[in-house]
Amino acid sequence: MVDANRTLILPLETPTSDEHERFHRTVEKYQHCRKRAREYCWQNPKQPDDIVTSKSEVEDALYHDLREETDELHANLVQKAIKDVTNAMSAAKKAWKRDERISKPTWDTSEAWVMTYDTRAGTFSKHNARFATAEATVELAYQTPSHLDGTLYDKYVLSTKWELTTSKLAYRDGQYWLHLGVKRALSDQHWTARVNREVSNAPNEDTSRVLGVDLNVKGWTAVTSAGGFHGNADYLNHRRDQYEALRGELQQTGTRSAYLRFHERAGTESAWFDEYAHLVSNAIIEDALDTRSTHIAFEKLKGIRKRMSNLPKYQQWLFGRVQEYTEYKATEHGISVVYVNPKNTSKGCSHTECRTVSDSNRGEKQFECVGCGRSWNADYNAARNIGLRHIFDSLLPASQTCSSGKTTCQLAFISGVLSVTERDVSHVSKEWMSTDKPTALAVGS
Ligand SMILES: [Zn+2]
Repeated sequence: MVDANRTLILPLETPTSDEHERFHRTVEKYQHCRKRAREYCWQNPKQPDDIVTSKSEVEDALYHDLREETDELHANLVQKAIKDVTNAMSAAKKAWKRDERISKPTWDTSEAWVMTYDTRAGTFSKHNARFATAEATVELAYQTPSHLDGTLYDKYVLSTKWELTTSKLAYRDGQYWLHLGVKRALSDQHWTARVNREVSNAPNEDTSRVLGVDLNVKGWTAVTSAGGFHGNADYLNHRRDQYEALRGELQQTGTRSAYLRFHERAGTESAWFDEYAHLVSNAIIEDALDTRSTHIAFEKLKGIRKRMSNLPKYQQWLFGRVQEYTEYKATEHGISVVYVNPKNTSKGCSHTECRTVSDSNRGEKQFECVGCGRSWNADYNAARNIGLRHIFDSLLPASQTCSSGKTTCQLAFISGVLSVTERDVSHVSKEWMSTDKPTALAVGS
């Protein structure tokens, strides 16, 4: 199950001075736990892997001592203090691995502080929250807006659809804030759109529907998350090889007529490639219209180049053209074209309840998930991941900060088809390909 998560920042009513003191004594103990965990995780590391980032390791080593040293601070506050530290240590370790400048993470508590409360140490309800402290529980009401309609508070806190979850209590300059976490489980159902040209559930204004597109140098040139398989990259490569062979021949001949013949052929060739790019982009647009998508997501070309180190120049050119033509045509239909980071799009499982990323997941043509055992056409899996990437990285985070933002995000995909073979595909531009099928796969590796 995938959760959609949001954080809402709510101002809290001012506590009494007695309650304020209680929070202060609590945060001192919380800070003590962080300091001890910090010393444990960061012992003069010489390399990134020397930093301890495992929460369970730190808990095993320190938890009982910390409960004692803090006169039995709430167990879940001790755990969250440790987790704050291991989270920061993980971030520092990753940054170090990227060769960024890092320093030992610190937490200041004098002017401003933050404590993490899960639903055992804190109780979050629609109008107030109760916090465990070193002594008794303190209850603080939310300072709610005077007009509720359309506010985030109305949408997430008063709504029954969202569950209130682990949150942060923050204090700064005399004001208390709750960084209230809310979550909602999303099943695959929420992403579903049928491609069978009977998509009746047109997205309303609130819905974003993303069509993911995977571009390839072998097999199908473009595979979409809606189960569209377009173009014939093998034929493209074959044709390109023939062209290169002819060029070599004519260059060796070296006569004027050979020169002219070659230029004529080069013109035909680039017109043919251009037409190919148009046909592929038309097919992508058709898939987007069929599924009433609001967005088309591609991998960034730079990322594709990184992923395929030996990507031929003409394929780069072709991908650029396909993206350019798609963008141009999408504008006419009010569809946005977006570009995502391609990291792990071929290694990750695109089933939204699994999303296991593993090197062993990918087979040559078939994707076999080591996490959930699902098997998909590898390019189709990548196309879904590309669409999901845009949803998770851009649409969902944006909707959390913008009150009038889009709330429903869907991936356009075919339901019920896990494995797509050539036989199953009815979506190919046959009429212009069938007459000229490749006889040999003269594809460079
Ligand atoms: Zn899986």
